[in-house]
Amino acid sequence: MNDSSTEPQSTNFIRSIIDADLASGKHKKVITRFPPEPNGYLHIGHAKSICLNFGIAQDYPSAVCHLRFDDTNPGKEKSEYIDAIKEDVRWLGFSWDDNSHHTSDYFDQLYAYAVQLVKQDKAYVDSLSAADTKAYRGNLTEPGIDSPFRGRSIEENIDLLERMKTGEFAEGEHVLRAKIDMAAPNMNMRDPAIYRIKHMAHPMTGDKWHIYPMYDFAHCVSDAIEGITHSLCTLEFEDHRPLYDWFLDELKTPAHPQQIEFSRLNLDYTVMSKRKLYELVEDGHVHGWNDPRLPTLSGMRRRGYTANAIRDFCSRIGVTKKDNIIEMSVLENSLREDLNSVAPRALAVLDPIKLIIDNYPEDQEETLAGVNHPKNPDAGTRDIPFSKTLYIELSDYMDDAPKKFFRLTVGREVRLRFAYYVTCTHVVKDDSGNVTEVHCRYDPETRGGKSEDGRKVKGTIHWVSAQHAVTAEVRLYDRLFTIPAPVAEKERDFKEFINIDSAQVLANCQLEASLLNANTTAYQFERQGYFCLDSVDSKPGSLVFNRIVTLRDSWAKKK
Ligand code: ATP
Ligand code: MG
Repeated sequence: MNDSSTEPQSTNFIRSIIDADLASGKHKKVITRFPPEPNGYLHIGHAKSICLNFGIAQDYPSAVCHLRFDDTNPGKEKSEYIDAIKEDVRWLGFSWDDNSHHTSDYFDQLYAYAVQLVKQDKAYVDSLSAADTKAYRGNLTEPGIDSPFRGRSIEENIDLLERMKTGEFAEGEHVLRAKIDMAAPNMNMRDPAIYRIKHMAHPMTGDKWHIYPMYDFAHCVSDAIEGITHSLCTLEFEDHRPLYDWFLDELKTPAHPQQIEFSRLNLDYTVMSKRKLYELVEDGHVHGWNDPRLPTLSGMRRRGYTANAIRDFCSRIGVTKKDNIIEMSVLENSLREDLNSVAPRALAVLDPIKLIIDNYPEDQEETLAGVNHPKNPDAGTRDIPFSKTLYIELSDYMDDAPKKFFRLTVGREVRLRFAYYVTCTHVVKDDSGNVTEVHCRYDPETRGGKSEDGRKVKGTIHWVSAQHAVTAEVRLYDRLFTIPAPVAEKERDFKEFINIDSAQVLANCQLEASLLNANTTAYQFERQGYFCLDSVDSKPGSLVFNRIVTLRDSWAKKK
């Protein structure tokens, strides 16, 4: 397995089941699977399932995890999605070796199993209209009614099924159904569909098939064919488990995997279903599946999330059967923790104003040493050019500032990070009263930001030398939605709650010169947060940075 794989995950109830199965000898080798439908990009919810399934494969001797594309829905599925899914799983630090499969690999076997069910009189071809099928199904309080076609002979069923397969009938004319119990309290057991007619070519099997298997049938049989031992899925499949077991029991498949359900990951202030993400992308509310505001793994990667942080988050939230909504700040804290330990520091002014040091010689320049990482001496220092005219943050100056404002106001002294102490003398304003220049005098005896006489200053501000600065665009991102649970508002369209201020673009940011050679790793812009180059829009000569996350949980404060 991949080097970047991490420390073993903390244990959970599923791992306890596996431990017991290994101890009792029920299984010698554990096989899990991650079965995405290639109808969209993966999101952070999928990461939970990936870390669970592939994590087990990493931690148990000789265990493996299969990547299986659940491609039974031609029409919605695209090879673009398959490639993106593989990239995301790899990025998270997992590998599947030779174990990448498609449900469509098993179409022949699935069909043979369906024929077997018919021969056992456990499946039949139904020819009710869609409306009748629904009416006959009953509801939670009323039992269903047998279809008049339920009594067809095995021979007739075999004949019809064969002709469905070769494309003789129109879509909706017939379906193959399991023969279970139309009065079963569990609606999933009321003769569920096994195959439906669909005259549509498939990306893998071309126009060979005119019928495609339903999820509940295809999934358990594919699991059995692959010898999966533990089939882990989310809680909404709990009611499908009796059907999962029914198919495998009736078919006497060589393996009978155990389905175990766990709760899905929900995060606040976002949406987490491929269908809804697709809507946001298609309707242009975001710029593609990898928009840095989306909870897709490609969007998060572009934003600057690290695979480490996501794995750490998945391990912290654990795996249980309890339904809940996790706060975004939990994810962001995993991210901050990882970035804080790895991100080199840099100085960047996002909303610049000029600071002029009146007593600094006009044509003088010097080089100061910037510490790359305060907690890691091995990270060394970098050269930062210093000169008479600097940029500082507009918000670091204030007229008539209160005592607690430890930044610049006339008469107040601050430390310029890594440089000198400066005292503000006056400012220049334009006709509308906006400050355009802050003037100050520096103390040449404080080079490196230390004073010999032990004089203390409370505030340290960041700066960049104007003539050396690199101009860049910086994108600040905020929550994509204005309320914690946009999809819970059943009466309203979740898109009504999109935060229209979720992306703020600052075009004239001034960065320290070393960032001209920025690579794709994350930086901490001191006092600002963590930033990385935008992998899509940044070009040499016109750099674009994304804010990955702020330094502290500013959202908690806002609330
Ligand atoms: P979506 O609702 O986003 O379309 P899905 O479950 O239909 O999700 P699949 O591609 O079928 O998407 O999912 C692949 C695997 O990922 C499944 O085993 C599913 O249970 C799991 N999964 C999907 N969403 C989550 C989630 N939010 N939390 C945990 N696991 C998830
Ligand atoms: Mg789905």
